[in-house]
Amino acid sequence: MKAPAFAYAKPATLGEAFALLQVLNAKVLAGGQSLIPSLNMRLSSPGLLVDITGLKELKGISVQGNSIRIGALVTHAQMERSPEIQKHLPLLAQAIPHVAHAAIRNRGTIGGSMALADPAAEYPAVAVALEAEFLIEGKKGKRKAKATAFFKGLFETDLKPGELLVAVEFPIAKPSDKSVFLELARRHGDYAIIGLAAHNSKFVFFSAGPKPVVVEGGSMQKAKENLSKTLKPPADLYSSSAAKLHLAGVLLERAWTTLST
Ligand SMILES: Cc1cc2nc3c(=O)[nH]c(=O)nc-3n(C[C@H](O)[C@H](O)[C@H](O)COP(=O)(O)OP(=O)(O)OC[C@H]3O[C@@H](n4cnc5c(N)ncnc54)[C@H](O)[C@@H]3O)c2cc1C
Repeated sequence: MKAPAFAYAKPATLGEAFALLQVLNAKVLAGGQSLIPSLNMRLSSPGLLVDITGLKELKGISVQGNSIRIGALVTHAQMERSPEIQKHLPLLAQAIPHVAHAAIRNRGTIGGSMALADPAAEYPAVAVALEAEFLIEGKKGKRKAKATAFFKGLFETDLKPGELLVAVEFPIAKPSDKSVFLELARRHGDYAIIGLAAHNSKFVFFSAGPKPVVVEGGSMQKAKENLSKTLKPPADLYSSSAAKLHLAGVLLERAWTTLST
C-alpha cells in the first residue's frame, strides 16, 4: 500500500517547527523508520509531516558535568559509534545493537524511539533503569521529565501536542555501578519477546507490559518474588503470558549472576 496524501515541511529553526506543529493534524517526522511504515499501512494519516531533521538543537552527543546529553536526532548508528557512550553509558551501549537492523539503525533516532514508546523497544527500559531525564520544548517553553513520568502507557508519553523531545540526559556510570542488558528475540534485530535492562539492584523489563516494568530486589529471592507479583506480560502470537513470565525469570537469574561477579 502507499501512504495517504500529506503536506510536507522542513523547518530550519525550532520557532518555525513549533509554528508548523500548530497546524491541525500535523505530525513530527524524524528518521521515519516507524512513522513511514505506519503511513504506508494506513495506520495513520497526518495532514502535514514536519520534518525535524534540519534542527541543529536536536543533534549531537556531549558530556555535560555528570551526565551525557544525547540529542533527539542522534541515530542508533551514531550512538553505536560514540566513544562517549561506550565509555560512560555501558548499559545503553549494550542495548544499541539489539535495535533493529543496520539499515534501520542508520536512519532511526533515539528521539523517535523514545517518543514512539513501543513497549517492546529497548531504550525506554534503559532510560528508566538509568533514571534518564527528558528535555522537552514547545511554544510555551522548555521543561524536563523523568523517565518514569515520561513513559505513561502503551505508545503513550508525557509529550503534549506541539511539543518536541529535544534531548535525553543520562547520568554517567560510576565506577561502582554494574549493569547488564539481556534480550530474547526470535532473530537478532527483531523486537524482543522479553528483555531486561538491569542496573545495580534495579531490573527493568520490556516487552512485558504497556511500558517498562520495574522490579526491585536486594536479593535474588526477593527479586524473584517481586517479579511474579509485578510482571503480567501480555500474550502475543508466539508466546503465552506464562511463557514470557518464565523467560523473564531466566533473564533475571542470568542478570543476577552477571551482576554478582
Ligand atoms: C523492521 C523494523 C524493525 C525494528 N526493530 C526495532 C527494535 O528491535 N527495537 C526498537 O526499539 N525499534 C525498532 N524499530 C523502530 C526503529 O528503532 C525506529 O527508528 C524508531 O522507533 C523511531 O525512530 P525514527 O527516528 O525513525 O522516528 P519516526 O519514525 O520518524 O517517528 C516515530 C514517532 O515519534 C515521533 N517523533 C519522532 N521524533 C520526535 C521528537 N524529537 N519529538 C517528538 N516526537 C517525535 C513521530 O511523530 C512518530 O510518532 C524497528 C523498525 C523497523 C522498520
